[in-house]
Amino acid sequence: MSSVNTAIQLITREEAENGRSAAGATCSPALAQGPWEYDLAEAAAGIPAYGPGASSSDAAPKATPRQGQLPEEYKLASDAELDARIRAAKATLGDRAVILGHFYQRDEVVQYADFVGDSFQLANAALTKPNAEAIIFCGVHFMAETADILSSSEQSVILPNLAAGCSMADMADEDSVEECWEQLEELFGSAPDSEGRAPVIPVTYMNSSAALKAFCGRNGGIVCTSSNAKTVLEWAFERGQRVLFFPDQHLGRNTAKALGVPLEQMPMWNPRKEFGGNDEQTLLDSRVILWHGFCSVHKRFNVAQIEKARADFPGVNVIVHPECPMEVVDAADGAGSTDFIKKAIAAATEPTTFAVGTEINMVNRLAAENPQHTIFCLDPVICPCSTMYRIHPGYLAWVLEELVEGRVANRITVDESVKDNAKIALERMLAAKPL
Ligand code: SF4
Repeated sequence: MSSVNTAIQLITREEAENGRSAAGATCSPALAQGPWEYDLAEAAAGIPAYGPGASSSDAAPKATPRQGQLPEEYKLASDAELDARIRAAKATLGDRAVILGHFYQRDEVVQYADFVGDSFQLANAALTKPNAEAIIFCGVHFMAETADILSSSEQSVILPNLAAGCSMADMADEDSVEECWEQLEELFGSAPDSEGRAPVIPVTYMNSSAALKAFCGRNGGIVCTSSNAKTVLEWAFERGQRVLFFPDQHLGRNTAKALGVPLEQMPMWNPRKEFGGNDEQTLLDSRVILWHGFCSVHKRFNVAQIEKARADFPGVNVIVHPECPMEVVDAADGAGSTDFIKKAIAAATEPTTFAVGTEINMVNRLAAENPQHTIFCLDPVICPCSTMYRIHPGYLAWVLEELVEGRVANRITVDESVKDNAKIALERMLAAKPL
């Protein structure tokens, strides 16, 4: 079965009818509902939440963007009606609109995408469509911000559901990072050492707000993706005595470990504690200070799942994303970005069994696209990225039909001053070359 949504519907229906599921398990029966149902529940409770899925138990910041009500007609429309309306609006708009679909997005949305890829690939793909007035990003908030930073001022970037944030990106907010920076400056000073290296270089993962990319731009720092994190860390070590890496501790730790940085020189920074919960000497001895952030999708993977896959499928090739915990990366046969995972599977010339540690929508799509191989998700529970999942075809139909009527709904706009500094950090990343 290739569609995660079909599987969720089947599991929840069987659970409702028989009291137990014969087809597998999902982490939340609420996934079978339309996202507007939990948008409403949230509004009533007054407490922002990420919705069902892997991030459901993460605390969403109070200021996290909320989605206003979706017109009733889109909630009531059948799948077939939404499909017809999306196709008709897309045909009317033609080259005036480009739809981007992230690898982790659900199939019912990805089927309309002009480009499918990771966040940075998609932002760059949009650059190949300079005549498109609207870039509809079927991903999450930070991705739409990146597309806005890189696109022209005449283009509007649209996020079909404003509540599609990212729990990992939200774990590092600008105020907490500024406060951390002040404390580090107080401890390290700001003077370079005898080799001209700054005391600390900030490195932000692409999965962060535009404000943090701008923070890096202003402070001699840089952005990285999961594909180029090693090159970026090497760039940073040439210019700094140590690195402050946010928001994903796992990508930071896995990458620095592969570069030979000892674990004891990678303290964690807890933004709720003085000096991040560290003593001064630990910070003075550090090479990489890791922000206490993580992706709740990739945190679900564990070594026991790998052991089970190896027992059930002798010879299985286990590939995981570097947002997974270090023990999981260490126990896998390979680790790398979504692009790395795609290429590793494409490179297998003989039928192979792959156990993959990344988001379920991508894994199921890889399985459907590569029938010569056996491909399954390491996590037996169907638990998609909560926030990607908030982009439902109903929201896509709505923003497209608004465009047809000459209205831009859900535009994501990054302030010009933030854009300029964020671009500096992104350009440093593009210029960084492997050593
Ligand atoms: S998979 Fe993880 S990092 Fe990616 S958008 Fe979802 S929560 Fe954020």
